Amino acid sequence: MTSAVVRTLVAAALCGTALTGAEDRLPTADAVLRELKAGNDHHATKRYQHPHQTAERQRELSSGQHPHATILSCADSRVAPEIVFDQGLGDLFDVRVAGNVAGDAEIASIEYAAEHLHTPLLVVMGHQKCGAVTAAAEAGEAQGHLPSLLALIRPAVEKARGQSGDLVENAVRINIENVVRQLRLSKPVLAPLVDRKELQVVGAVYSLDTGKVTWLPQAPTSTSEVAGCVYPRARG
Ligand SMILES: [Zn+2]
Repeated sequence: MTSAVVRTLVAAALCGTALTGAEDRLPTADAVLRELKAGNDHHATKRYQHPHQTAERQRELSSGQHPHATILSCADSRVAPEIVFDQGLGDLFDVRVAGNVAGDAEIASIEYAAEHLHTPLLVVMGHQKCGAVTAAAEAGEAQGHLPSLLALIRPAVEKARGQSGDLVENAVRINIENVVRQLRLSKPVLAPLVDRKELQVVGAVYSLDTGKVTWLPQAPTSTSEVAGCVYPRARG
């Protein structure tokens, strides 16, 4: 038995996920995207369906999880994915960090969801008036561990300085685009999944004013199609 197979079995055992047929039970990325768009309409109009929040659902999930999307979103308390997309228990694999950046810990979590839970869709979601992006755009000295986080956002801020319009809102969008590209090219786990069309990565911006999610234009579906891009090199 290869070490890769052993790691897979160990990971599956840890999360209680059955390996056989797990992929067959998951919808396509496009179907999940349609569901998230519908759920966001529920949120924006305050006509929630509150799916998958019963005691029965909770009991079902005790034997394993099969979330249909991974959401990398800002830790901001106003941007909770289950509420923004009207989802329930076991639906979303959330990875939340200020500024929705992808450091090693975030990438490792996303790899786990993509490789072992087979989530077909990964959404990178930033938001209007993001405090982390605002801090990265300001000249003040950051305290504690914050400088290392802001350093991941600053390339987006610097690019936004050359654009017309609101600096922070432009930087929010560019930061999402950068992280989407970084994750699509991330080796050794995510890029092959993207190339085999087993994982779709999309960017989104949440509006605090309206509750609506705006989906960013999707990049080419193969990492080979984005070779030569001018964005920062993807982290391993
Ligand atoms: Zn934020």
